[in-house]
Amino acid sequence: MGNCIFCRIVAGEIKAKVVYEDDDVIAFEDIRPQAPVHMLIIPRRHIERVNDLKEEDERLIGHLVLVAKKIAAEKKIAESGYRLVLNCNRDSGQEVFHIHLHLLGGRRMSWPPG
Ligand code: 5GP
Ligand code: ZN
Repeated sequence: MGNCIFCRIVAGEIKAKVVYEDDDVIAFEDIRPQAPVHMLIIPRRHIERVNDLKEEDERLIGHLVLVAKKIAAEKKIAESGYRLVLNCNRDSGQEVFHIHLHLLGGRRMSWPPG
């Protein structure tokens, strides 16, 4: 946890372009955006991956989605559409082991993902 880059963003030790924050979550721009809108919504609390979620985290995870929805509306991509992604472990390509919900939009995306 001490070296977790997202915990350091939460602590204000590493700068990020924060677009939303409350007591439980913060949201900021991805440093290497993959779409015109690419935000990461993360819990302030360090949880490594989806596999580590517990029953009591249900509200927190739901909250991440509702914050993403709010940001999508603010960024004016609610109607054109957007994608929410939670990567877990190697096959997904998870690189940062502090749960983060990707909000991607502003361009047409393909399916299935690569
Ligand atoms: P993952 O592959 O783990 O789902 O996604 C990690 C995301 O975090 C990547 O899209 C990457 O660009 C982003 N990221 C990694 N380090 C930083 C950082 O220091 N600041 C910001 N804003 N984003 C980061
Ligand atoms: Zn962390």
